[in-house]
Amino acid sequence: MSKYSKYEAEFMKEAASFPITWKKAKGCYIWDDKGKKYLDFTCGIFVTNVGHSNDAVKKAIENQLDSNLIFAFSFPTEIRKRFVEKLMSMVPSYLNKVALYSTGSGATDRAIQIARKYTGRKYVASVFNSFHGNTALLQDISKSQKYKIPFPMDKTEIDFDEDIKHMESEKICAFILEGFQGWSAYFYPKDYIQKLAEWCNNNNIILIFDEMQSGFKRIGPMFSFQYYDVRPDLVCFGKASAGGLPLAGIIGNEKVMSCMNQEKFASTHSGNTIVMAGALANLEELEKINDVAEKGEYFINLIKQMYTQYKCIDNVTGQGLISAIHFNNKHVAKNVALKCIENGLMVVNTGMRTLKIGPPLTISKELIKEGVDIINKSIEEAI
Ligand code: PMP
Repeated sequence: MSKYSKYEAEFMKEAASFPITWKKAKGCYIWDDKGKKYLDFTCGIFVTNVGHSNDAVKKAIENQLDSNLIFAFSFPTEIRKRFVEKLMSMVPSYLNKVALYSTGSGATDRAIQIARKYTGRKYVASVFNSFHGNTALLQDISKSQKYKIPFPMDKTEIDFDEDIKHMESEKICAFILEGFQGWSAYFYPKDYIQKLAEWCNNNNIILIFDEMQSGFKRIGPMFSFQYYDVRPDLVCFGKASAGGLPLAGIIGNEKVMSCMNQEKFASTHSGNTIVMAGALANLEELEKINDVAEKGEYFINLIKQMYTQYKCIDNVTGQGLISAIHFNNKHVAKNVALKCIENGLMVVNTGMRTLKIGPPLTISKELIKEGVDIINKSIEEAI
């Protein structure tokens, strides 16, 4: 019998790569409806950085529920103010305004609208094979080829000036960039991104960092732009911003953000009180996590050993607690993913030739090793 209601649209099912009904998720584990336990190397999809059903996040939600203020439309609330002030205390001070939304796509779409209004230009530049969301505007940007630069790691020689040569910079309002390329956990060379930031600055192009996957300490610092040591004009966040609750937003400098002051630009559930309570606790929990780089290094070194061990692995990429194992074709990747599930480890099957891995940042080294052992076993069984 199907685990979905017959009324659910087919495309709603696409996101779930495996036919597992989630029953419970706590810390680094997920349980299905048959009581099977999975070690989670996905955080859903890079959402529960502080662990599933984090106790502090739960408590904050419960307290908010007890206060009988579940919804307040766009009216100010004390909890919203506390969250915003906490968030802004955790980013560089040149970023001094924030707008709150409910989905990542809503945030990236609106960031582009801000860039258009601010610059009076229309076109959006981005990198081939990047993903920024599913609104009609974002889909158009994903399809358009003219304002794309190649993904540098796809080339034998990396040359920013060459990549940017064809761009009509005077027509471009924004360059939107993921902290790493999503499907592959490929990071850019730091100097490449620094040149890109400089080019945007020199040509009055708004640099938008899409931090959906790379934010909230996933790679160590709060956001990936800090790893690259650049100053984006707008930073879009979502996914891990509220410990599992739906929250996204844009952080920027007042000069750029204020171009929208006369527009109707809020959203019904912006700053929902339950979400704000969970999000504030999420930030407080994140503040306590300072060992992502160390655990990430331990993790990547373990999976690098697989690279030397198995011929079917082409590459291993990553930074902090996000990594990807690149297989020589997508069928092997899928088979390994299915074996991992069978063996009690949740991984992201990207549908490409990679297996993506991103455990809760609260994971211990022992559990990292346990998960890596399951991947090894699963590769042996799949090939
Ligand atoms: N940008 C990136 C880099 C993403 O990974 C995603 C979601 N996978 C989005 C934007 C869109 O976020 P949402 O699904 O919350 O709309």
